[in-house]
Amino acid sequence: MLVEKFGIPQISTGDMLRAAVREQTEMGMKAKQHMDAGGLVPDEVVIGIVRDRLQLADCDQGFILDGFPRTVPQADALSQCLVELEKELDAVISLNVDIDALVARLTGRRACAGCGKGYHITFDPPSQDGICDACSGALIQRDDDQEATIRNRMQVYQDLTAPLEAYYQRQGLLKTVDGMADISSVQEEILGTLQAN
Ligand code: AMP
Repeated sequence: MLVEKFGIPQISTGDMLRAAVREQTEMGMKAKQHMDAGGLVPDEVVIGIVRDRLQLADCDQGFILDGFPRTVPQADALSQCLVELEKELDAVISLNVDIDALVARLTGRRACAGCGKGYHITFDPPSQDGICDACSGALIQRDDDQEATIRNRMQVYQDLTAPLEAYYQRQGLLKTVDGMADISSVQEEILGTLQAN
């Protein structure tokens, strides 16, 4: 929704890492171990990926960071990188969702192996089980969307990522959005927050 609305790229470190895993690059093979366990890929790897990506021309008019930064060292590196690029963050959005709701959302999540379109087996199912409505590709589940791995990811979030709320609060950038609401309300709230900036 934000990509369409603002015409700027979504920079998802998770998507970039999954692409490296698919392409079986050396970095991808190392990252996979951490990802499958629900842990974080080492800071220097992720920082390097984002640093390179932010220099591409399609970021000139802005960008949406998704899944980055996830640790204080990553946030510090991002600040440094933005100084070098003479850019600033407009807002940091924290989506608040109960753990049980997150588990339900993630365990039911599926994506098309062909076009990447996302589904949920209960909340947004395809018309035919396991098949993409848009391109008839096969729907697959992420390896790290198993419940045990999800619980580990939540713990990692609490330990390493949650401190970023205070970090960005101090900078006056943090906007908290109720992620328990339905999709259109969450979208409206995020847009309202960004447009009020
Ligand atoms: P995501 O698609 O954002 O849920 O990320 C999937 C997985 O990729 C995470 O559980 C981590 O293993 C890894 N990952 C993505 N972004 C980062 C990041 N900023 N720092 C470290 N690991 C990351």
